[in-house]
Amino acid sequence: MKFCSTNNTGISVGLKEAVLKGLADDNGLYMPVNMPRLSEDTLKRLPELTFREIAFAMAQPFMTEDMPDDELRRIVNEAMNFEVPLVKIDDHISVLELFHGPTLAFKDFGARFMARVLGYFTKDLKQEIHVLVATSGDTGSAVANGFLDVPGIKVHVLFPKGLVTKIQEKQFTTLGKNITALEVAGKFDDCQRLVKLAFLDQELKNGLILTSANSINLGRLIPQSFYYAYACAQASKVDKNITFSVPSGNFGNLTAGLFAKAMGIPISHFIAATNVNDIFPKYLETSVFEPKDSVATLANAMDVGNPSNFVRIVHMYNQSHSAISKDITGYRYTDNEVKNAVKETYESTGYLLDPHGAIGYLALKDYLKTHSGQGVFLETAHPAKFMDTVEPIIGKKMNIPARLQKFIEGHSETTPLSNRFEDLKEYLTKQK
Ligand SMILES: *Cc1c(COP(=O)(O)O)cnc(C)c1O
Repeated sequence: MKFCSTNNTGISVGLKEAVLKGLADDNGLYMPVNMPRLSEDTLKRLPELTFREIAFAMAQPFMTEDMPDDELRRIVNEAMNFEVPLVKIDDHISVLELFHGPTLAFKDFGARFMARVLGYFTKDLKQEIHVLVATSGDTGSAVANGFLDVPGIKVHVLFPKGLVTKIQEKQFTTLGKNITALEVAGKFDDCQRLVKLAFLDQELKNGLILTSANSINLGRLIPQSFYYAYACAQASKVDKNITFSVPSGNFGNLTAGLFAKAMGIPISHFIAATNVNDIFPKYLETSVFEPKDSVATLANAMDVGNPSNFVRIVHMYNQSHSAISKDITGYRYTDNEVKNAVKETYESTGYLLDPHGAIGYLALKDYLKTHSGQGVFLETAHPAKFMDTVEPIIGKKMNIPARLQKFIEGHSETTPLSNRFEDLKEYLTKQK
């Protein structure tokens, strides 16, 4: 399969190049030149398949020219080694729990898959690959855990000292092995600036292979389409008219849902559920896309003022605002609405939402007031990751899953770094 850039449909690269580069040379995002479609036979058999079988069927059209089937099967089986339960909330609404991976958030799907794909593409290199990632919290933990123990790859996580929650920090500072946590004296923006400068530094790249595991990488996007297909396969035993509500920030998750629909998965509608950083719902309403500085909210992984995958969505719909708004409806919610939803849902159903999932749930409920059919919202993180927010809302201590407890009890090790590029350069030069 060939991939073009959202800025230039004339570009055509293979999957390997798209994954290794992340971003096209013209700064566009990679997209399949032609979206593949599953065969009618595969689509019909979906309800009989396991999650991993569906994942393989969804990934194969993208990968087949760059990777033998048995390698892809191994990668899918290793990466997708946790449950993806679809849990019924009431007669019309189910929740797809995407938090059963090692860092208790949906980013595990993308990070674990991409790590293994990158490992495969670089396995014949004599040299080590160095992955640099700047994080404000969740990305660092998913990427670090995704790449843990992948041979030939070293990960360097840059995080702002004192500005990441304790739980988040524990998830990437306690791993050791091929993962190093660099504690930067500065803000997230400093971390991001340092990473960018490293990629631009020719002297550094001379003798050192640097890559990023950015969320716009196709290697992270493609695996996020698997669970839409799986949820439909489970739910289609009941109903074929399924709406997905997706708590969104950079819109990678929702874009992956659009991939699944384009591949033939029977999805009737999408809901773009956001916090008050509502750039995309505003676009749906006004047809104007106007990025802004982000505002801090309780659903902080969705505090995004310029959603990076927007260009992929308009590319898929040939820039047609009316076509996009036919398939996607937007809703936004305030922190107060989120708090009330967490509390009320817990009290009336016993189900404990995290702040991100709560936004997906609210949007789905509002949509189903005027539409029929079956709805699924994505629960993108385990509520225990946000226990400092959730416990005061429900007025109770919550159970901490064992894998999270293990991180909390782990021993942190970090390497201090100033916010000057010279210091990062010196550190990286020693890796040569
Ligand atoms: C990253 C993240 C999101 C937002 O996903 P996008 O693909 O950026 O839209 C939502 N919820 C949680 C918990 C996240 O970590």
